[in-house]
Amino acid sequence: MNTIDTDYLVVGAGAAGMAFVDALIADGDAEVVMVDRQYRPGGHWNHAYPFVRLHQPSAIYGVNSRRLGTDSIDALGSDAGLYERATGAEICGYFQQVLNQTLLPSGQVRFFGMSDYLGDWKHDHVFRSRMTGTCTRVNVRKKVVDTTYLQATVPATHKPAFTVDGGVRFCPAGGIVDQVEPPGGYTVLGGGKTAMDVCYWLLAHGVDPERIRWVRPRDTWALSRRGFQPLDLMHLTIGEFAAALRALAEAESLDDLYRRLEAGGQLRRFDKTVVPTMFRGAILSDAEFDALVQIKRVVRKGHVKRITSDRILLAEGEVETGLDELHVDCTASGFRSNPAIPIFGPACITTQGLVGGFTTFSAALIGYVEAVRGDDREKNALLQPVSPLNNPIDWINAYMGFLRIADLQAGAGGHQDLAEWLDRARLNLTGGMSRHMDDPRIVNALDDIAQCRDAAVENGRRLLETMNVPV
Ligand SMILES: Cc1cc2nc3c(=O)[nH]c(=O)nc-3n(C[C@H](O)[C@H](O)[C@H](O)COP(=O)(O)OP(=O)(O)OC[C@H]3O[C@@H](n4cnc5c(N)ncnc54)[C@H](O)[C@@H]3O)c2cc1C
Repeated sequence: MNTIDTDYLVVGAGAAGMAFVDALIADGDAEVVMVDRQYRPGGHWNHAYPFVRLHQPSAIYGVNSRRLGTDSIDALGSDAGLYERATGAEICGYFQQVLNQTLLPSGQVRFFGMSDYLGDWKHDHVFRSRMTGTCTRVNVRKKVVDTTYLQATVPATHKPAFTVDGGVRFCPAGGIVDQVEPPGGYTVLGGGKTAMDVCYWLLAHGVDPERIRWVRPRDTWALSRRGFQPLDLMHLTIGEFAAALRALAEAESLDDLYRRLEAGGQLRRFDKTVVPTMFRGAILSDAEFDALVQIKRVVRKGHVKRITSDRILLAEGEVETGLDELHVDCTASGFRSNPAIPIFGPACITTQGLVGGFTTFSAALIGYVEAVRGDDREKNALLQPVSPLNNPIDWINAYMGFLRIADLQAGAGGHQDLAEWLDRARLNLTGGMSRHMDDPRIVNALDDIAQCRDAAVENGRRLLETMNVPV
C-alpha cells in the first residue's frame, strides 16, 4: 500500500471542502490532501438539474479568495433588482478553476479524485482509487476533515422511497428538459426547493398553472431573497434582519413570531389557509413567489408510496393519475438532518452550518479559525454549529447563529482578527459593512438591532425551551 503524509486530510471536495481548504491555506502553511469519490470538485452541483441556480447571490458563494460571477445586479427576470445567482454549470466550472488555478498551484494541496475514503475518522486513514483499486494510507499530522456529515442528495442520484409501475411517465427533476412530446399534465412530487424550481421552470416555459399538480407532503415557509443581499444592497439585508430580530424580541409564541415575520414580508407561504410545518431555509424572490402561488391543484395526503398506471397511492389516501401524466421526482432530501455536533473534535473537524445554510461561508470561517487558533475548546466556543433547518422552530436557532456572527464582526470578545476577517470576507453577507457606515439606512437599522438584540436572544431562548429544542 502507498503511504503519504499530510497535515490535513479533507474528505469531500464539494463546496464545503473547497471553501474550507481555500481559507485554511490562505492563513497558514498547512499541507492538505483532498479526497473525493467524484472526478472533479463541486460535489452535488455536478449532478444538479440543468436549470438549477443558487438560492443566494453568487457574490457570497464559493471560496473566499475568488469571485464567482461578476457581482452584478440582474436587470431582467425573476430577480430583477437583486444580485445575480450562478447556474449549476457556472458553479462546477468555478470550482474546477479554484482547484486548478488556486489550490493546486499553492503547492500546499494535493487532490485525489475518483477515490473513496475508507478510514475511521480517527486515526486510520485509507482511500481507495475507483479506477485502479489501489489503496493509499494517509498519515495525518493534524486532523481529518469530514465535509460529508450533512451530505447533500439530489434528484438525479437519489433513489425514491416509493415504487413506480412500468409504463408510468416518470423522471427526476432534470428530466423535464428532455421531454419531446407534451404530456397531458405535470405532477410535481415534493414540497421543497427543487419542487419550487421545477414548478417555476414549468410556468416560465408557458405551462398553464392548471396543468400542474403539486404533491406537497408538508407546506413550507420560504424566506424572501430581498433579505439576503450583499454589497450595494446590504441596507436591505440589515433592514430585514433588524425587522426579524424585532419580531423575535416581541413574539409571544412561535405562531405569533411567524405572524409577525409574514406581516413584515421576511417569510412567505403559498397558501394562507394552511399553516406550514416545514422550514428548510428556501429563499425565493417575490416574482418567483407570485408565480408559484398560481398553482392551486395541491395534493396534501402525505408521502407518495406508489404510482400505478391510474393512481398515486399516498400515506393518507390516493388520487387519480394517467399514462399521459408526467410525474416529476423532487423528493430528494437535499441534505441530511444530522444533529449539530462540536465542529473541532480531537481527531476530526466536522464542517457544519454556522447560520443555517450559507455552507461556504461557514466552511471558510471554520478553515480560518483552524488556521489561526490552537485550542479546540476555544474554537468550539467561538464557532457553534446550527442544526440543519427542517421545522419552523429552527428559524430561531438560525437567527441566533446570525447574531453570533454579527457579534463577532462587531468585535465581541475582543477577537479583533475575526472581526477584520469577517469584514473583508467576500462570503460574508455583511462583509465590507465598515465601508457603508455613512449610509443612514444601515446606521438606523444597526441602532434598531442594538436596541432589541438582548430581548431577542432572551425571548428566542424562551421559545426554544418551550418547544424543548436545544439552544
Ligand atoms: C438545488 C440546491 C441549491 C442550493 N443553493 C444553495 C445556496 O444558494 N447557498 C448555500 O449556501 N447552499 C445551497 N445549497 C446547499 C448546498 O448543498 C451547499 O451549498 C453545498 O453545495 C453543499 O456542499 P457540501 O460540500 O457540504 O456537500 P456535497 O456537495 O454533497 O459534497 C460532498 C462531497 O463529498 C464526497 N464524498 C462523500 N463521501 C465520500 C467518501 N467516503 N469518500 C470520498 N468522497 C466522499 C462526495 O462525492 C461529494 O463530492 C443548495 C443545495 C441544493 C440541492
